[in-house]
Amino acid sequence: MSQTAEVVIVGAGIVGSSIAYHLMAAGCRNVLLLERESATGKGSTGKSMGGVRAQFSTPVSIQMSLYSIPFYSSFEERLGYPCDYRPQGYLFCATSDRHLAYLRTNFEKQVQLGLKNVRLVEGDEIRAMFPLLRGDDIVGGSFCTTDGFVDPYSAMNGFLTWAADHGATLWKNAAVTGIVKDNRGIATVETTRGPVATRKVVNCCGAWAAEIAKMVGLDLPVTPLRRMLVPSEPFDQFPHTAPMIIDMSNGFHFRPESRGFLLAWNDPEETAGFKTEFDPAFVEKILTCAADRVPVFADLPVNPKRAWAGLYEMTPDHHPILGEAAGVPGFFLANGFSGHGVMHAPATGRILSDLILTGKTDLIDVSLLGLDRFASGRLIHETAVL
Ligand SMILES: Cc1cc2nc3c(=O)[nH]c(=O)nc-3n(C[C@H](O)[C@H](O)[C@H](O)COP(=O)(O)OP(=O)(O)OC[C@H]3O[C@@H](n4cnc5c(N)ncnc54)[C@H](O)[C@@H]3O)c2cc1C
Repeated sequence: MSQTAEVVIVGAGIVGSSIAYHLMAAGCRNVLLLERESATGKGSTGKSMGGVRAQFSTPVSIQMSLYSIPFYSSFEERLGYPCDYRPQGYLFCATSDRHLAYLRTNFEKQVQLGLKNVRLVEGDEIRAMFPLLRGDDIVGGSFCTTDGFVDPYSAMNGFLTWAADHGATLWKNAAVTGIVKDNRGIATVETTRGPVATRKVVNCCGAWAAEIAKMVGLDLPVTPLRRMLVPSEPFDQFPHTAPMIIDMSNGFHFRPESRGFLLAWNDPEETAGFKTEFDPAFVEKILTCAADRVPVFADLPVNPKRAWAGLYEMTPDHHPILGEAAGVPGFFLANGFSGHGVMHAPATGRILSDLILTGKTDLIDVSLLGLDRFASGRLIHETAVL
């Protein structure tokens, strides 16, 4: 077997790319990324809304954002490539006292962990900031100015290009078809471009991660869930400086994109599965939510042909599964981001690079995110999922 690698990363989306960058930056010399498609970014990364936020409900999610968002804000200085970080904020709009209490509890955790730019806002302040929102039922909210958006494709590309500039190798059209173990753990990765000898493999296959885990006998609780986004045509009747605005009454949210707006909503009728076709019936559903919260959106021009669908990679507790799998030495997991893989990619890269190269990390308590938490019932539920 002629091809060998110190670390093989399976899947060259934003997560695999960030891990490659962090490994190379930490001094690893022989990293091989395997991507089954002829181009990178064709998984969930290229379909993402690009939202980045630290307004989460669990300490570990908040800590991952506290590394990732400053990383994105200094991305170009560090890597020399842009990621188009726009700190326009996330504004959660509460429409009940229960929502408000939830936001207050989260706010206290976020501040305690060191988030500086988050604050609770009164209903009147939201109405004054955005008079075009229907605000009669908004009782308050929370706003963080360093939350915002990135361009996921540019960020992925920046990580990948930097890693390649520093000696990492990317194989496209290289689907992983099998993983062979020996008595020391991982031995060979079989691909459509031939076998690769390695002792360390990282599963970065997004919504398809369970297939790769099965190759080493692991049952990975990561399920695909369709997620649809609707962009509008150019529209100037709402400010383009707006943050991501979340209507907590139904989860509808939107942000400025190009000369229009990008609309998102988690349809409660959606069911799990590898469905990536956009359903035209979704347009009417989401425009109903949009016009309800932003009356001028009743005139929002939308071309359904420009809308798209992709896959969230869901875990039962909406936290990722990170680290080396117990019982399979050399097999690392970076999966199940439950819709937060872009915003948490920088932290994931650092954590996996630490674990692969040194066996530990000080960024988070990674034992909280191990695969074994499902069998032992130690789930930690993230509820701030959009
Ligand atoms: C509509 C939508 C909106 C989203 N919005 C946000 C958001 O606002 N913020 C946020 O943080 N996240 C968001 N997400 C989630 C985010 O996009 C994902 O969490 C993230 O892209 C996951 O990155 P990844 O690299 O793990 O997976 P992917 O980008 O899916 O990459 C996995 C790669 O593995 C490859 N692969 C699979 N099987 C094999 C194989 N056998 N051999 C070789 N290669 C293989 C695939 O081709 C793919 O390129 C959104 C997702 C969607 C669909």
